[in-house]
Amino acid sequence: MRAIIVRPPTPGAQLIDVPSPDLAPGTVGVDVLECGICGTDRDIVEGKYGRVPTGLPYLILGHENLGRVREITAGINGFVEGDLVVATVRRGCGRCRFCLTNQSDFCETGDFTERGIKGAPGYMADRYAEFPQYLVRVPPRLGSVAVLLEPLSVVEKAILQGQRILDRKEPTPGRPRVEPVRALVAGTGAVGMLAAIVLAMRGYEVTAIDRHGDDTFAGRLLARIGAQHVNVATGFDALGAARFDLVVEATGSVAVDFSLIVRLGPNGVLVLTGIPDAAGPPSTVPGGPLFRDVVLGNQAIVGSVNANRTYFESGLQDLAAAEDRWPGLVSSLITSRRPLEQYAAVLAARPGGEVKSVLVVRRDDAPRSS
Ligand SMILES: [Zn+2]
Ligand SMILES: [Zn+2]
Repeated sequence: MRAIIVRPPTPGAQLIDVPSPDLAPGTVGVDVLECGICGTDRDIVEGKYGRVPTGLPYLILGHENLGRVREITAGINGFVEGDLVVATVRRGCGRCRFCLTNQSDFCETGDFTERGIKGAPGYMADRYAEFPQYLVRVPPRLGSVAVLLEPLSVVEKAILQGQRILDRKEPTPGRPRVEPVRALVAGTGAVGMLAAIVLAMRGYEVTAIDRHGDDTFAGRLLARIGAQHVNVATGFDALGAARFDLVVEATGSVAVDFSLIVRLGPNGVLVLTGIPDAAGPPSTVPGGPLFRDVVLGNQAIVGSVNANRTYFESGLQDLAAAEDRWPGLVSSLITSRRPLEQYAAVLAARPGGEVKSVLVVRRDDAPRSS
């Protein structure tokens, strides 16, 4: 079968023929339809990240996926041939308390693998085989947007973790909060836009920041969901005096991270999802006033990575709700779909105006409403 392979830390990606995966007892064989591309994939292609599976000379790239069940081995319930499925990414270490309770996203040993990223083959190939506990069945009506489910699962986790920390302060009995809860999203790539959409559906008053004017795809989409857009290209002063209850960061910029801490309101929570470059230049910040306010304001800064199956399931519900509320909005985040053969151009650099680029592995003629 065809596969896009990498050999980190050697840079570069190739389309080659590889052996098809064995359909071991208890597994489901899946034809891959689409793979989304994100910064992690590009970092792996640059050789900055990623690990080849033990005993193999290459890693099959790709973690954001959508496929169709092709074959089912004996004894599997809950799937039929032709089902649309999205596979989760992380496989637990099998030892720590979190991996043993299906929460490998909180693995404590670090000995997990991640398909397409760290030590396990990914999904940029014609087929893969997987155990059913790692497959999430997708209703046919969500087929046109389901390739976004993996990045959405990361957003679902980040927002729920932030919400849980916010919830440590119960509303005063008999005095429900009257003003809406204010959320700030930093970054208007796929993760930032999905976060803005989910937060808007949760009833937050949403502001999103990036370094562009309003007359962009992101600016128009934010207007459609009733969110405010602020261009901070010339600095965070553009936000005026605004403070926020929940801040979701999706930029990976250390400078932005520090600028966001001072935007937290009393009891506010900053959730970091962007992964800064560990080799980036050091930053100098006035730590005294910064952390003084964190303490005096009961504020929290928390990192969030990966997502377990429960977040894929809540993501499916949010995809359906978003399709009902704003038809076609989520699918508009997919700014390009290109055949697998064009992998080199798509992986080389982020094209201008990209929100989510998708490689089409297999053209699927079954009806897909959007
Ligand atoms: Zn990704
Ligand atoms: Zn673990």
